[in-house]
Amino acid sequence: MISVEEALETILGKVPILEAEECDLLDAVDRVLAEDVVSDTDIPPFDNSAMDGYAVIAADVSDTSESEPVELVVVEDVAAGYVAEAEVTPGTAIRIMTGAPMPRGADSVVMVEYTQANEDKVRVSRPVKAGENVRYRGEDVSAKDTVLKSGDVLRAAQIGLLAAVGRARVKAIRRPVIGILSTGDEVVDLDAPLAPGKIRNSNSYSLAAQVIAAGAIPARLGIALDTEEDVVAKIGNGLECDALITTGGVSVGDYDMVKIVLERLGKMVFWKVAMRPGQPLAFGLISGTPVFGLPGNPTSSMVSFEQFVRPSIRKMSGRTGLGRVEVEAILEEDIKKKPDRRYFMRAVVEQRDGVYYAQLAGPQGSGMLRPIASADGLLVLPEDATQIKAGEKATVQLLHPLED
Ligand code: AMP
Ligand code: MG
Repeated sequence: MISVEEALETILGKVPILEAEECDLLDAVDRVLAEDVVSDTDIPPFDNSAMDGYAVIAADVSDTSESEPVELVVVEDVAAGYVAEAEVTPGTAIRIMTGAPMPRGADSVVMVEYTQANEDKVRVSRPVKAGENVRYRGEDVSAKDTVLKSGDVLRAAQIGLLAAVGRARVKAIRRPVIGILSTGDEVVDLDAPLAPGKIRNSNSYSLAAQVIAAGAIPARLGIALDTEEDVVAKIGNGLECDALITTGGVSVGDYDMVKIVLERLGKMVFWKVAMRPGQPLAFGLISGTPVFGLPGNPTSSMVSFEQFVRPSIRKMSGRTGLGRVEVEAILEEDIKKKPDRRYFMRAVVEQRDGVYYAQLAGPQGSGMLRPIASADGLLVLPEDATQIKAGEKATVQLLHPLED
């Protein structure tokens, strides 16, 4: 048996980083930028008001107070999107809205809260400093600044920044397309009747959902029967994908064809990985396409995806952090295990007063789906551990943000 680390390291060594493509800005969300982006403009592009109020000359109101307010003549109103025609000269002011360009002559803005308008005049009850409430041209970004670098992840703020510098299209690493093939004579799709002896193809959907959540595009390739011909034909349909996942057919049962076929078609490695669930795992390349032969049990396939396929998708997508966030949680019950493999137990996780607490999400059978459906994370118990007592700490891989 090999360790989880050895298996992952071997796999990542064979998975390429995909090439970049030009795409529309909103198609780049959560992808990795593949160019340095230089601003074509100053941001803001002109000096403007940070407040609603009055554009003034600070020296005019340096001695003003609530009891003896200075009165200025209001010569114009300027809204955002327009440019004042008049100039602010000593003794005058221009009423101004947030985002409107600073009028000529003015050096500061008095907030409307500190003024009292009276026909074409305004009384100012507090002094301002020169420059107060003014946002200067280029104070956020200067033209020719490199605002984002190749390798940056494009989340909402980066997308906004790209829009602000005028980039409707950007170069980003392509999203991987991941083929998903189910195997098994017993497996039927959702539109087929559930005849005696059959089960529904849930793995195809849970895996497709995991692929989407990892930022890739699933290509569902259907169900192959447990015959060499059918598995060969249907794997053949998936080799255009950037990687291929099969589920089922990698354990030792007589009808486990995937193993046999993968061995015949490509360079495959079959492993017993020292983990539970998910011990049987096949990996290799068929015509250069990485193929992951995941186990058929619903929880095993999901846990194996988490440990090996998700990091591979992230590598292909140009990400550098490949694993899940791991936290230390206090166990709320005693847990026993055999001292052989690493366990990934489905756990409910809560955070109280800044401390994480974990308890098992029901029974841990790898054929079950409901426990993992109520889990927030995978409790990672080391190979050599035999029991962990309530109150002790253990590592948890978080499967989603806990606010969900
Ligand atoms: P196998 O690895 O093919 O021996 O399958 C192990 C277990 O997982 C069996 O009980 C299968 O019926 C079940 N299984 C296999 N494929 C799927 C699937 N696509 N969806 C749900 N369960 C499956
Ligand atoms: Mg099978």
